[in-house]
Amino acid sequence: MAPRALSLLVSLLETSSGRVVEDTLDTADRDAFEVLRETGALVVADDVPVILCPACGDQDVAPRRIAGVLQGLCPDCGYVPITNASLKAWAFDPSWLLGRLRMAFGIAARQDSVELVPGTLWKVGDHKTGKQAHRVLLARRLSEHSVHKAFREALLDKVERDNAVIISTTPKSAAMVSDVSLPFVHLAEIVHLRSGKLELDEERWAWCLKPAHLRSHADSSVFYDGYRAAIVGGEEYSFSVNQALVFEALDGEPGTKRLGSTIMADIGSPQRNPRALFRHNPRQIEGFDRLVAYDDYGFYWLKRR
Ligand SMILES: [Zn+2]
Repeated sequence: MAPRALSLLVSLLETSSGRVVEDTLDTADRDAFEVLRETGALVVADDVPVILCPACGDQDVAPRRIAGVLQGLCPDCGYVPITNASLKAWAFDPSWLLGRLRMAFGIAARQDSVELVPGTLWKVGDHKTGKQAHRVLLARRLSEHSVHKAFREALLDKVERDNAVIISTTPKSAAMVSDVSLPFVHLAEIVHLRSGKLELDEERWAWCLKPAHLRSHADSSVFYDGYRAAIVGGEEYSFSVNQALVFEALDGEPGTKRLGSTIMADIGSPQRNPRALFRHNPRQIEGFDRLVAYDDYGFYWLKRR
């Protein structure tokens, strides 16, 4: 459940409110939500952002307490009472996340994180490796232009650009940072959530510390951990060793086609075609379908890399 919890936290961080209304959660997200709540990643928010209008079920309304009664103003229905007793919003807690990140990086407890752009960019702390110190930054919602502008300005004014590492909840493909030479990693890629703690992915961190020319070599914005994991649109997918071999066989320029049966023979799999290797796990087949395309002639290719 833990990877799912981190995915839910990431998707929450990518919303402007950073909030979730308990009653509107998908059943699929319930367990992940409980994990986040129990570990303290979420705190009770004072006001609920928006919910579907209880009258028409069509428009978004923002619940407000007016004269002691919870109601919302719907463009279609006018004022509607909101009777849902357990309507409760939860917000991500930046201090929890920053604290767990400092622990994951082994940053001295006396160091405090600093908010560089309100609600969107933080200096987590300075991480020392031998003589070198690296400034660890946390950013969210970098695909939004207003946030992105403030992020750029802070990067110029407040960050020594030679030694910083950017951790973001926005996937690299959406973050408009192709010109930024700093290491840029997705939150779900650099840490793992285990028993309420964030653990640093040492391999990915080692990659961050490499000089730029070594880092860019054979780097994928989607796959990591030797194709055992991928992040698409902020969602993290984990794959088996054999499944990873399929991605490795397909890797190359997006659109470069390979015959499925040849791949299966190459990797020594008895399955008929690459997709068959993923079909038993709903999560893995979803990941496969977001990453791989195929045609009626049995050819397969990557949609992105
Ligand atoms: Zn309505």
